[in-house]
Amino acid sequence: MQKDAYSFNIEKKTLAAMVSIYCRKQHQAKDRLCPDCGKLQDYALQKLEQCVFGAKKPNCVHCPIHCYEPVRRQQIQKVMRHSGPLMLRYHPMLAVVHIARRLRNRPIEKRSIKK
Ligand SMILES: [Zn+2]
Repeated sequence: MQKDAYSFNIEKKTLAAMVSIYCRKQHQAKDRLCPDCGKLQDYALQKLEQCVFGAKKPNCVHCPIHCYEPVRRQQIQKVMRHSGPLMLRYHPMLAVVHIARRLRNRPIEKRSIKK
């Protein structure tokens, strides 16, 4: 598998894992996400697909472009805050990769963006 596609896949998996931990804990979801979290996940995955940085995508916290609508952004921040610390327990592999990426991908400077 191509390396870029691989890390993109990890990113998607991490996102889905975080939403599902959050939904399970907060909304007592069992096999599937509740409708709200399902919508949030679809939205986030779509944004990920459209990310202008592609495989060089920084962690969203460090991204100079905030592509989320304010409401969605708040929701996803809530999910990350809740699920972030739990990732090591539920998905240690994904958590480690996520942390490694965060260390490796420095924040992208605003001026380096070319449209
Ligand atoms: Zn939910």
